[in-house]
Amino acid sequence: AKDAAAAYKSSDADGAGPATAFDNILSGKWPSDKVYEDDTALAFRDINPQAPVHVLVIPKIRDGLTKLSCAREDQEALLGHLVYVAQSVGKKECPEGFRLVINDGEHGAQSVYHLHIHVLGGRQLGWPPG
Ligand code: 5GP
Repeated sequence: AKDAAAAYKSSDADGAGPATAFDNILSGKWPSDKVYEDDTALAFRDINPQAPVHVLVIPKIRDGLTKLSCAREDQEALLGHLVYVAQSVGKKECPEGFRLVINDGEHGAQSVYHLHIHVLGGRQLGWPPG
């Protein structure tokens, strides 16, 4: 995540951000195990799952949302929609409960600079996180 944060900083000062793996997933260039899709959001399984259920919910158009802290006020509805989609995936796949996580920046251990909500569940999760 530190390398990713450094690359993000050096390549992009204005928040637009370089292309990420998720662009290849969105364009269909790379395969992904999709669990939900609508006009503005895509949910697919994480390639390196940290729990029996590990789904990522992303905006289809990044529009500066490299990370949550780049959010603009006019993106409030989109952010709400992504959380709504995330709970809907969580509720369906993890009836006993789940966790939503958004990693932000270097200290947040973010590695892909295209906003994403992790939906984690399917086992008893611990608290606090590392
Ligand atoms: P972050 O650390 O940025 O919060 O999370 C990025 C997540 O994206 C990681 O959990 C990582 O396993 C996942 N990821 C990275 N590249 C790919 C990919 O090409 N396909 C899928 N499905 N997940 C990916």
